[in-house]
Amino acid sequence: MEICLVNPEASLYHDPSKRLAKPLFPPLSLMTVAALTPEKHNVTVIDESTAPANFDIRPDLVGLTAMTAAAPRAYQIADRLREQGVPVVMGGMHASALPEEALQHVDGVVIGEAEELWPQVLDDFEQGQLQPVYRHEHYPDPATIPPARRDVVDISKYLAKYTLQATRGCPFACSFCAVSTFFGRTYRTRPVENVVAEAAAIKGKPLILVDDNIMGSPRYATMLFERLSDLKTTFLTQASTTMLNTPELIGKAAKAGCRALFVGLESISQEQLTKIGKKFNVVKKYKELIQRLHDNGIAVVGSFMFGLDGDDPGVFERTAEFTEEAQIDIAQFSILTPLPGTKLYDQVQQQGRIIERDWSKYDGTRCTFVPQGLSVEKLEAGFHWIYEHFYSWRSILKRTARRLEPLVWLLNGIYHKRVRNWLAQMQQQLATNE
Ligand code: SF4
Repeated sequence: MEICLVNPEASLYHDPSKRLAKPLFPPLSLMTVAALTPEKHNVTVIDESTAPANFDIRPDLVGLTAMTAAAPRAYQIADRLREQGVPVVMGGMHASALPEEALQHVDGVVIGEAEELWPQVLDDFEQGQLQPVYRHEHYPDPATIPPARRDVVDISKYLAKYTLQATRGCPFACSFCAVSTFFGRTYRTRPVENVVAEAAAIKGKPLILVDDNIMGSPRYATMLFERLSDLKTTFLTQASTTMLNTPELIGKAAKAGCRALFVGLESISQEQLTKIGKKFNVVKKYKELIQRLHDNGIAVVGSFMFGLDGDDPGVFERTAEFTEEAQIDIAQFSILTPLPGTKLYDQVQQQGRIIERDWSKYDGTRCTFVPQGLSVEKLEAGFHWIYEHFYSWRSILKRTARRLEPLVWLLNGIYHKRVRNWLAQMQQQLATNE
């Protein structure tokens, strides 16, 4: 069979002619599904973050994946292809959280991880017995995760080209996060030798370990870092602030080649962190953590969210000040978003606070539920302000001048340009809507 896997791009839902910035990563989930597909089938991957889908295609089956913000675009693609007689199945976080909704647009939904389900979908489809819902009875054994197929995408189109995954899930369950809902509150690790073999076969660096919490199990992380050290590679990945409980692990990560860590700091208010189920983040230890990472040559990509219950209009300036004092290298800011399937979604839904039902706006850049403590307008304006401020040359110098890391300068330069283009686009959109 000819099978086409599609990664829809959220921003194309409203404007299919939109020019896209160079995407960050190739779609590892679809590259893994391609690897799970028996060799007798021919697989192609369309990643709309590089170019919009071509609706002239006529494969035997299309497989879509989507996070919530990309779900409307996924439905648009599915509706169009099904009108042309092409059957479509859908997986990913959004369809897993709202399968009934997805089934209004597709022939079958895969709920949860694909490892054991995808071969079953293909068998059933070949026999003309495609089921509407596929759901696993237990979480897949990570030893069954195959090395991703890197031949199905053109990696030259991505900024960071070499993605792979060592672990699935996270031991925590923050109320806003879809990770623990999708992967269950389980933390599962691939055999170290499988990860190292996959990493060794990648002829390039830095590697991007797309794990949600690479240090969720200190024992496993120790074994992994020790083996990765032999490869003389470099990598970027993600870990929770709890790594400070095992500081020796930070040194091992650095020795293995870790050059940057994405850390979900989320808020500089301990009270707000408790409200979102993240009280294990200890604000008074943030600077110590960042200093320790810097001392080991690891750059910090800090993630912060706004619109938490109790955030007031001063939260943006306080956070900006903190990022400069703590010398955060790179930051990702977002507006708290109640993704379907999360505890936060159930909570604000019950409270009748949801004000936006267009899923394409659930990308962390818009206010989708009534905030407490500041107005919708102030929240969105403050969010734009902090991005512009953080990536101004003045703030970049303040945050990075002491360390003079080429990677950090490069990333700040890329973000400086991207943020300016994105803010100009937002203003244009607002002007068009008025
Ligand atoms: S620590 Fe990070 S990945 Fe884990 S549940 Fe919280 S936000 Fe999600």
